Amino acid sequence: MSKRDYYDVLGVSRNATLVEIKKAYRKLAIKYHPDKNPDDPDAEEKFKEAAEAYEVLSDPDKRRRYDQFGHSGVGGSGGFGGGGMSMDDIFSHFGDIFGSAFGGGFSSGGSQRSRRVNKGSNLRVKVKLTLDEMANGVEKKIKIKKYVKCKACNGTGAADSNSMQTCPTCRGTGQVTRVTNTFLGQMHTTSTCPQCGGEGRIIHKPCHVCHGNGIVKEEEIVTVKIPPGVNNGMQLTLSGKGNAGARGGINGDLIILIEEVPHEHLKRDGNNLIYDLYLNFADAALGTEVYIPTVDKKVKFKIPAGTQGGKVFRLRGKGLPDINGYGRGDLIVNVNVWTPQKLSREEKEILEKLRNSDNFKPKPTSKDKSFFERMKEYFK
Ligand SMILES: [Zn+2]
Ligand SMILES: [Zn+2]
Repeated sequence: MSKRDYYDVLGVSRNATLVEIKKAYRKLAIKYHPDKNPDDPDAEEKFKEAAEAYEVLSDPDKRRRYDQFGHSGVGGSGGFGGGGMSMDDIFSHFGDIFGSAFGGGFSSGGSQRSRRVNKGSNLRVKVKLTLDEMANGVEKKIKIKKYVKCKACNGTGAADSNSMQTCPTCRGTGQVTRVTNTFLGQMHTTSTCPQCGGEGRIIHKPCHVCHGNGIVKEEEIVTVKIPPGVNNGMQLTLSGKGNAGARGGINGDLIILIEEVPHEHLKRDGNNLIYDLYLNFADAALGTEVYIPTVDKKVKFKIPAGTQGGKVFRLRGKGLPDINGYGRGDLIVNVNVWTPQKLSREEKEILEKLRNSDNFKPKPTSKDKSFFERMKEYFK
């Protein structure tokens, strides 16, 4: 592979001055810079080629050897070894020549970051709710220990107004901009002010209450409004109710983790509630009226005569509300017929009489679906 002549690459004569070489390279570096030519391998090659030519011709010693012996005179000594150089090589070599400012690319310092604002950390609290509270929503008062603004210094962290001044290095902006003049133009680099750490202010005498932090830990009662329809494991974020930020910073968030207190009688399945109803044998056969617990009150429910064990009643809209307001779930009543486990002699006699009665012989019809079929139906 024949290499192009370095003077040809830069487009300068063999007796070009160093100024001319720099000027020529600057033009090429800007023209073929990868930022300007994304995904263009040809431009990348030219960029590398120019960098290599510049590396040699800008160094009087290497240039002399190149003039005398051609490519073989500098091969291996300039770190190129004939294998070309990677982009990383080129940029690190730019760094040597232009200062670290080049690392930021060609940006002209137009980014307007403001001074650093401390953000308080988030707080997490668990709140236990009953099904009733989850269904209807509730207002809870929670006692939490958190960082609040120090009243002694009004959050500034300074003992008094005289012990605080605007940072002289950055004049309160929290950042310093360094301008480097290179032949690629003016390079602006912006970084965090080293004197004030980006806060823009310097405290000479810290507040004796908060030791300069501007925040102190205190116990606070926070009122939290829980909307209807929350679920176990759900998180509610109250923005700005967490820890205060240091020295006039912004507050973190308070994150409420919902934990369900199990209900005595009701099980939850999404927005539906499940209730296991136990009927005695006589009630199942004769029919009766029962009270079924819902999240807030008991409701009267009529059990028809001849109700089989395993029967499922669905009380529409008696479940839990949807958090997004899409109606309410149902209350599913599973009927279990209780078989007596102890019998008096009199009871035994009655049952013995009924044992062979024709009506007591099981005659399941297609309406009396098996347990699995009913479950299938429920989950549909
Ligand atoms: Zn500063
Ligand atoms: Zn203070």
